[in-house]
Amino acid sequence: MFGFSLTKILFTVAVIIIVWQGYKWLGRMQTRRDAIAREGARGKGRGGRATAPAAASSSAEFEEMVECPVCGDFVPARGAVSCGRGECPYRG
Ligand SMILES: [Zn+2]
Repeated sequence: MFGFSLTKILFTVAVIIIVWQGYKWLGRMQTRRDAIAREGARGKGRGGRATAPAAASSSAEFEEMVECPVCGDFVPARGAVSCGRGECPYRG
């Protein structure tokens, strides 16, 4: 009775330890995954924030500013104002 009980207790303890270690391992794996995911998200976020607005602003400036073929002045494409010369394609 005592021997059976001890074996049962030892078996139960062994199962608890195995399950505990398994959960510990799973927790470590999940923590690693979360850390990697966070790092990846942060990296992408930083990269996107760093590059996207700069590219957008530069492209927007490039698109908005047009060089006048006559006078050579850079004028905004939208609402371009004539420089005053007769050959200037832009009209105020
Ligand atoms: Zn002009």
